[in-house]
Amino acid sequence: MWPYHPKLLETPVPRYTSFPTAAEFAPDISQRRHGDAISTATGDISLYVHIPFCEKICWYCGCNTAAANRAQRLTSYLDALHQEIKMVGAMLPAGARVRRIAFGGGSPNAISPVDFVRLYDALVLAFPLHDPLLSIELDPRTLTSGWGPVLTAVGASHASLGVQTFAPHLQEKIGRVQPEAMIEKSVSLLREAGITSLNFDLMYGLPGQSEEDLAQTLERATHYGADRIALFGYAHVPHMLPRQRRIDATDLPGPEARFAMARSGYSQLVEAGYSPVGFDHFALPGDPLARAMEAGDLRRNFQGFTDDQADVLIGLGASAISSFPDLLVQNEKNAGRYRMLLSQAQLPTALGKERSVDDRRRGAIVEELLCRGRARIAADILADSLDRLRPYLEPALARLEGGNMLVIASHALPYTRSIAAAIDPYRGQSPRRFSSAV
Ligand code: SF4
Repeated sequence: MWPYHPKLLETPVPRYTSFPTAAEFAPDISQRRHGDAISTATGDISLYVHIPFCEKICWYCGCNTAAANRAQRLTSYLDALHQEIKMVGAMLPAGARVRRIAFGGGSPNAISPVDFVRLYDALVLAFPLHDPLLSIELDPRTLTSGWGPVLTAVGASHASLGVQTFAPHLQEKIGRVQPEAMIEKSVSLLREAGITSLNFDLMYGLPGQSEEDLAQTLERATHYGADRIALFGYAHVPHMLPRQRRIDATDLPGPEARFAMARSGYSQLVEAGYSPVGFDHFALPGDPLARAMEAGDLRRNFQGFTDDQADVLIGLGASAISSFPDLLVQNEKNAGRYRMLLSQAQLPTALGKERSVDDRRRGAIVEELLCRGRARIAADILADSLDRLRPYLEPALARLEGGNMLVIASHALPYTRSIAAAIDPYRGQSPRRFSSAV
């Protein structure tokens, strides 16, 4: 069903969780500009709270996270995070309403349940919460029984478990060993705690992985009733992520094998009753993500595909990214500098990008292509992008309807990011910073 055009997939492309992407961020956004964006953010707002710690660091991981092996380091970080919560909450104007809070990382459950409750209480005190939808990323290896009552108490309804693969021989090769019984226990705990939308993060393209391995993992994920599945291709970029040097590159599936896995994974999940959402998510028909896809309301933000409609996302914590209609801004990544700035009552602004009118127009097109597979393209943008689009138009992976509606063919899902990249004028500058399209 998916034609394989290796040449069209060989250029690494962004995941487009923002436009412009983080590769375009520069250190020229002032704390004052960051503060102005916060203090004029009205309407519905979403919060993202970053916990950059994990009990054990997985070898493949691309997140900004560190081992949670020193209590003092965690305590100092949480003190700074509390400072930031107070400071940012006090800056928001009266018309702001927080409707969503996402805890991510790292692993939010690398901190203790008590510390998590304190963090949540700090958010309640500092921000105008309006019955927010609460989601949390969790590491099954450290999901202790104490987390159940805590998630119930704060009213968490969405959770995402890092699973990656159920195959023990692959878990060994990626430095993430978690027996299936641990997943089973985690699922029971989360369902009892009131989680109604449960996501499993899974991967293909792992060292030594076969299509059969992937099929078995997907079968186990559906067996445990995951409401959502995010199926990502493993991106091996050890020049950027030294921890990946522990992975044996000679054991990695080649591009064609990766493509075959993405294709067979897609078919298996659709046959199992999941709706495809965007190019790498799947959701059961009753899940809010599938409903958003169906209704044409799907969005793309730093957490991937989402049904969140807010145009303002405020990131809290080291390396967290905030998104405003006209500005993207990233907090200081280095935990020491992050703490120091907050100890001086300064916003931890590090990098960012003003979103020009052209960025916003192109960003809307990229989001439409990723979320709906079609977008109307203004004449000036089309003229500028046509040469880059042509390789996809010629083999009918995409077509122009009525001269300006770019439509990605139903059999061209794996090319979605590459086609979107044709609209992106920043590409071609640093291709090694991205992952392969499949
Ligand atoms: S638990 Fe998740 S965030 Fe932490 S190291 Fe492993 S993959 Fe990375």
